[in-house]
Parts: sequence; structure tokens; C-alpha cells
Amino acid sequence: MTAVIHAASGDVDPEFRLPTHGLEAAAARLALAQARGRQAHASLLTGPAHAGKRRLARWLAQAMLCLHPSAGEPCGACRSCRLVFAGQHPDLMVAASPLKVDSTRQLLADLALLPLESPRRVALLADIDQATPGAANSLLKTLEEPPSRAVLILTASQPERVLSTIRSRCRIISVRPPGAVIVAELLTRLQDVPPDAAMALGRRSGGRLDWALAELEDPAREQERIEGLLLLERLLTAPRSERLRSAPEIARRTDALDALLEGWIGWWRDLLLWRSGLPDAVVNRERSVSLATFAEALSPAAILSMLSLTEDALRRLRANAAPQLVLETLILEMPS
Ligand SMILES: [Zn+2]
Repeated sequence: MTAVIHAASGDVDPEFRLPTHGLEAAAARLALAQARGRQAHASLLTGPAHAGKRRLARWLAQAMLCLHPSAGEPCGACRSCRLVFAGQHPDLMVAASPLKVDSTRQLLADLALLPLESPRRVALLADIDQATPGAANSLLKTLEEPPSRAVLILTASQPERVLSTIRSRCRIISVRPPGAVIVAELLTRLQDVPPDAAMALGRRSGGRLDWALAELEDPAREQERIEGLLLLERLLTAPRSERLRSAPEIARRTDALDALLEGWIGWWRDLLLWRSGLPDAVVNRERSVSLATFAEALSPAAILSMLSLTEDALRRLRANAAPQLVLETLILEMPS
């Protein structure tokens, strides 16, 4: 589906199509601080993955670089805003994620130069919870002695994994996802998704607009999600020997593991809903038949335990634990 919303005419970076949609509360707080001239040298946007932190960080950078901001918000029309839209603003530096030491050092050195177009220079550093120790240390040095007229905007899904010395030098902005109902409304209003499908997608996304948009724009993600659920259902009926064989194979798909486990967590939650007599509330409706079967076969205690173990496995994966070990432990704990 083609996106129908544009923050400005012409080619616009996808991250600008919905600058602050669903994130209005956090954006309003940031705009107010901007309007009062209370800019922090460094801000750390925290919140769940796909909650829209990166979108909001771009918008904040644009507001800081804008030549004619209004009430702390970017005008969207000045030369500076247009350069940001085009990804060509010479005072905006965007770090590749995850942060590595050499590129971070280079970017921080560039940040210290004098601004060319705007009153200040801004660096966007996403996912600093994934930064290498070397990159985190060079970032800390810059935060301890920030260059004048330089601003850093950082994001992290797991702020507890960010050095406390970095956190304490940042203004912390909590970005809460808008929730399934608002996501569904936005999908219907802005992307023409029929209300029923929008609500199902809103629930599946865990109320995260950016997750829902990613699935909408890439139908392959939905297919992968369903295949991931079929794999889980197969594992649950497989003998121990087959489970043990499968774990390393699954662990090798490193790029897909996060989405796979998120899908499994949704499936276990569905099973709980089904057991609680709320079949209409499940998010994986296409798996209704097997949800009914497994809900019948498994005890609520077993379902709760697997939900908690899967959430824990995802946390460990995101904390860079060895995928094979995480998967083996999880799969062998599955009830038979
Ligand atoms: Zn502007």
C-alpha cells in the first residue's frame, strides 16, 4: 500500500510522513521546552522498540534546526526544514546503528565544527543501548564536555543497558506507544485500512504505530509472522529430539529472531485470552483453529509460564545473549 500522507510535497523520507502521529504528548512536551528556550545539550528518548522514538528524534532535530520555528515546532517550509526533509542538512548528523567506535568518533568530531546553515549542529544517535563499549565511551566523553552549539539526540529501547553516566547527562524523554485503538484509527484515517483489519493490526502491533506501518508496507512480514507461528505450533507437538535439532537452525536466522519471538509472545497471549473466554480479542485470528486446540490441551499455568519464558528469552536476545543458548533453553521448556 502506498502511503498517502506527506509532511511536505515532493520526495519525503518515510520517517517524515507521520512526524509526530500518535506521539503528540511527548512532542508537545518537547515543543514547550523548545519554545521556552530550554534546550538540553543531550536528550535520550526511551520507549519500546517500534514505538516511534526515531521519528520523534528526527522531528526534534528538525525543530532545533528550523529557521522559523513556531511554538517550538518546525515550520516545515524554511530552507533548513527542506534540507532536513531531503536528508541533506549539513548541520544534521545521523549515526549508523549500532554505534561503532570509529564512526562514532568521526561523527562527534564533525559535531564540534561550527554550524553552516542553522544556529546549531545536531547529532542523531539511535539505539545507543546497542553501542559497542568503545562507542559508548567516546559518547560519554562528548557528553561530559559538549561542544558549544552542539546538540545530541539519542534513543534506546532498553535504557537500563545504557551507561548510567550517559543517562545522567541527558534529559530523558519517555515515548509511549499510542495503543491499539489510536493506531487503528490512524491506519483507517491516513492509510485507508478497513476498520476491522486496522483494529487487528493495531492489536498485533502492541499499540505501536511504527510496527503496524512496517507490516503494512511490507506484506512479507505478515507471511513471516504466520510462518513463525506455524513453527511454534510444530515445535509444541514435536518430540524432544526434533526440538533439540531445530534450535540451532532457528538460532541461525539472527536477523529474524526478534520478530519471531515477538510473534510467539503474541501467540501465548492469545492462548491466555482464549482460555479466559475472550476468543474475539486474539490478535492472530488466522490461527484460531489451532489456538482453540492448544487452549484446550494446555493448563493456564503452563501457558503463563511459557509467556513469561518467551518474554525473558526476547529480553536476553536483545541484551546480546547467544541466540542458540536462548533458543535451546526456551524450546526445551515447552510443554509437550
Ligand atoms: Zn523550518
